[in-house]
Amino acid sequence: MNILLVGSGGREHALAWKIAQSPLATRLVAAPGNPGIAALCEVRPVKATDVEGLVKLAVEIAADLVVVGPESALEVGLADALADVSIPCFGPTKAAAELETSKAFSKGFFARHGLATAAYGVFEDTAAAGVFLDAMQPPYVIKADGLAAGKGVVIAQSRAEADAAVADMLGGRFGTAGARVVIEEFMVGEEASLFALCDGETAVLIGSGQDHKRAYDGDQGPNTGGMGSYSPAPVLTDALIRRAFEDLIVPTARGLAAEGRPFRGVFYAGLMLTAEGPKLVEYNARFGDPETQVLMLRLQSDLVPYLLAAATGRLADLPEPVWRDEAAICVVMAAEGYPDAPKSGAAITGADADFGGEAVVFHAGTIRDEAGVLRASGGRVLNVCALGATLHEARDIAYAAVGTIDLPGGFYRSDIGWRAL
Ligand code: ATP
Repeated sequence: MNILLVGSGGREHALAWKIAQSPLATRLVAAPGNPGIAALCEVRPVKATDVEGLVKLAVEIAADLVVVGPESALEVGLADALADVSIPCFGPTKAAAELETSKAFSKGFFARHGLATAAYGVFEDTAAAGVFLDAMQPPYVIKADGLAAGKGVVIAQSRAEADAAVADMLGGRFGTAGARVVIEEFMVGEEASLFALCDGETAVLIGSGQDHKRAYDGDQGPNTGGMGSYSPAPVLTDALIRRAFEDLIVPTARGLAAEGRPFRGVFYAGLMLTAEGPKLVEYNARFGDPETQVLMLRLQSDLVPYLLAAATGRLADLPEPVWRDEAAICVVMAAEGYPDAPKSGAAITGADADFGGEAVVFHAGTIRDEAGVLRASGGRVLNVCALGATLHEARDIAYAAVGTIDLPGGFYRSDIGWRAL
């Protein structure tokens, strides 16, 4: 099979690593990829949002399957364009991806299908938002409707802060993504992520985990794209996973199909484990980053049949995926200044070492310069991952590897996995 993988982060390096192990993948091409991915397969310099360029590339390599990593590619309609040329795509159409790309759509969808989530309202003017806030208690949850790279959510402790956040968003801080704001009830509980593949109709669980959103140890500092992850997350018991799957994910798959937006790809459910049971914080319409890194380490089954089946409506034909018993962890090494103003250019040493199969380093924001030196080129630079008999062991292996890598000026959290440990 010829496979085109779209994206350039740690998530895509982990997917490339797993896909490259499949006997089914006779040719794997990544666009645009990164230096880590380039060590595994062919890469082409086509951006994830260049729909025309990617369709051309898929046709050129006679792709049997296109696997889409980032939401930005889904939002611009890559899956739709591939459907026009009859190339199977793992990743939903623009309409189905609204589950992630529009919070107003997703909250309305949850309400229409009776899915457990926070009470909410959607507003286009400050006066109406104010009336809604009058009836609520702090903390207030204020969200920009559209994609805002994880920065469009404010948890306001005071009414003044809430009013300011609403005014800021409706005033154009996030452009059209903030033309509408969603105000939500604050949910109390621990957060966890659940992943399920969907082929438009059938959903199949593909793992769970927890990430670490804040930049610094002890969950301090600004929000980031994610500073680390681990799987399994003990807080997500089998019973909770079953309940979330049956009560939230299966009805989501059915509801989207019933609304004429069949979803082919992966549901990444952000759950709040409340006293009343699991509730939806949000859905993402693609694999998580850095959760994918730990899922790929733990997945024993070949991934390719599942991706192809999700893209072609045949998940019901496959057995449940098989997992390793080991625990997996991922520690993100970030560039100086991340998340506000990450500095590019630092020369990285040690990342290409052979860690004896125990630890794996997935590249995220890296480039190789003309002299062959690996350099930081983004906020999250490397993902150092490990499997261990226990989470303790996995953590020790990962941090031992981190200790041998030099990213000048960079930083990482030293407490990944603390909730489970
Ligand atoms: P992400 O980067 O996770 O995709 P996002 O910008 O899409 O983020 P959400 O996931 O909706 O935003 O919210 C970000 C975070 O804010 C959540 O992970 C959660 O910690 C917190 N949060 C969001 N909604 C609520 C809520 N209703 N109650 C409590 N906390 C919430």
